[in-house]
Amino acid sequence: MKFCPKCGGIMIPVREKGVLYLKCQRCGYKIRVKKNLGTQYSIGGKVEEEKRVMTAKAVEKRTAALSPEEREMLQEYYEVFLESFEEE
Ligand SMILES: [Zn+2]
Repeated sequence: MKFCPKCGGIMIPVREKGVLYLKCQRCGYKIRVKKNLGTQYSIGGKVEEEKRVMTAKAVEKRTAALSPEEREMLQEYYEVFLESFEEE
């Protein structure tokens, strides 16, 4: 809970034209709420990580039935593929 720095009233979140503010119920004083960029970045990083894990699992599944030589060859191929994929 936030309190108004001017009158000590309770600040409630309000949205005006897509911008979030904390507004004092008593005197109308309002503070613009900054977006939490740190949270957004961590979500993006998590999605990227999950995508990578999924790709790795798909490779594992496909190579399971192959001989060790074929598997090694494919593993190299996928590593190159993943590297070029990440650069885009
Ligand atoms: Zn106030």
